[in-house]
Amino acid sequence: MNITVLPSTTINNKTGSWRSNRPNFLYDKCTACGICPRVCPEGVIYQTDEINALGKKPFDCDYDYCKGCGLCADVCPFKAIEMETEEK
Ligand code: SF4
Ligand code: SF4
Repeated sequence: MNITVLPSTTINNKTGSWRSNRPNFLYDKCTACGICPRVCPEGVIYQTDEINALGKKPFDCDYDYCKGCGLCADVCPFKAIEMETEEK
């Protein structure tokens, strides 16, 4: 049985359903420093067009593809990302 997938098929296979935890981006704490997208292994963190309490455009992620690894929450210096248990 072939249990591997071909490379670069993430775009076709929405991998968000694999998660047991998910990041919650706290918009009003985000300083838009730009660190979290640099560590996301899936490249699914993006800057929104919202303006938060700090006058910044906060970051968020595409939950269709986020795998819930928690790296973004680990590196955020401003505690603007909290990991939560995924509700199925
Ligand atoms: S939890 Fe992991 S995959 Fe999801 S947005 Fe954060 S760094 Fe990316
Ligand atoms: S690391 Fe934190 S403060 Fe910086 S852009 Fe990401 S969520 Fe915002």
